[in-house]
Amino acid sequence: METIIKGYKPYSKSVNMLNGKTIYMSREKDEDVLIIAGGDLDFEGNAAEENGVKYIKAPLTHNNACKLREYFPFTAPKPVLSTSRTFGVGDRLGVACPGHLRVFEKYDAIPILAQQSIRELNLTGRTYDDVLDAVTFAVYREGFKRGFGADGDHLKTAEELEYAIKCGYTMITLDCSEHIRNDINAMSEEQVAKEYHEDEALESLYIGKSFDIGEGVTISFEETEFKRTVLIYIKAIEFACSIYDKYIKNNNVDYEISIDETATPTTPLQHFFVANELKRRGVKFTTMAPRFCGEFQKGVDYIGDLGQFEKEFSVHATIARHFGYKISVHSGSDKFSVFPAIGKYTRGMFHVKTAGTNWLEAMKLVAMKDAKLYREIHVFAIEVFEQAKKYYHVTTQLDRIPDIDNLDDSELPNLFSHNDCRQLIHITYGLILNAKNPDGSSRFRDRLYKLWNEHSDEYANLLEQHIGKHLELLYKNWK
Ligand SMILES: [Zn+2]
Repeated sequence: METIIKGYKPYSKSVNMLNGKTIYMSREKDEDVLIIAGGDLDFEGNAAEENGVKYIKAPLTHNNACKLREYFPFTAPKPVLSTSRTFGVGDRLGVACPGHLRVFEKYDAIPILAQQSIRELNLTGRTYDDVLDAVTFAVYREGFKRGFGADGDHLKTAEELEYAIKCGYTMITLDCSEHIRNDINAMSEEQVAKEYHEDEALESLYIGKSFDIGEGVTISFEETEFKRTVLIYIKAIEFACSIYDKYIKNNNVDYEISIDETATPTTPLQHFFVANELKRRGVKFTTMAPRFCGEFQKGVDYIGDLGQFEKEFSVHATIARHFGYKISVHSGSDKFSVFPAIGKYTRGMFHVKTAGTNWLEAMKLVAMKDAKLYREIHVFAIEVFEQAKKYYHVTTQLDRIPDIDNLDDSELPNLFSHNDCRQLIHITYGLILNAKNPDGSSRFRDRLYKLWNEHSDEYANLLEQHIGKHLELLYKNWK
């Protein structure tokens, strides 16, 4: 029989029994707490008694998150990328997870609920433990039992990988960009020949050879293109191999090879070469992220030739199927016009990552609920825009954003259907969160979290609609 403590009303989906005790989550003032009723379990917190029933009121600490993961494995991440459909929803703020979970009650894709790069951690002042703990508590509170993954995203060094694995992350996205040469494509045939070092063994496998990968697709290598491809990618391949041998092979984690952060798109031939070399060298991976043609800028729809995208994407998808991994699409936030094609050509086997779009929904909520605060932040964002731009490739033009002094409060939320404004707010998130008053206190952060906390249900609604639209379009064309 469940034991509920009167003063602590449970979140309805959070009630579970374990060894005769009832464990559930409740809200006390502005904070969630865990209640362990009916006796001891080794959670840290305050022991109390109500009508002869012992209970512990346990705060949402790291130790208690670890206990939850131990007692209720559905609150712990696991490798999930081998399932047909997976969808990454980084929650930079640690407040978006309940809204995300509403979406995954409706779609069978398995979510990657914790998904952060080291840069995101630095910009938000959080740790891998913080990020995962917030997810564990949200999953417990909402009773989400289908499983989820945790992605150490865009990791570049052994130290970063060790950190993510130590914190229990179940997916490693290896960012190979620092090992990919961006200067080769512009070289003449002579320059390429000069740069290239002979490798007879490798050449005999590729030059003049054709690979029939099924579905009517053949990949053929001629000499110069082969040499160019080797020069661009060979160091990245070697890097991915060494990381695999040292950190992935003996750990139960999903391995994603990311070659998307490059100056030029990954051609299908280059994609094939990287995949073929990794397989040949014994590297097992579950997903690969090539860079596609066109632009996947932050927070706005796809920019580029849709016809060309479809044509090339279908070959990328065939290559992935041939080798037996999934294509991973990065910067997937708001790329509505390409989602139907991604679903179609992958035949419903995809991984898509979104990260910043839940931040934009959170800021839209601010514009809806506290116009004064939004106006302050908007002006600040314009001030720091040039500084933020150093880290992002965006084509934002500030002069196209309406002057907010001419807008009524009720018009402020509409700014979020304006691409230039979306990018302005998107790329300045770290500076907004870290802005300080002269006395060292936070300029916006505390007020923002207070607002998000007070309106958590409306925030969840916004996310359900917005992330839901992503899934709806991804599912549109393959069923
Ligand atoms: Zn990426």
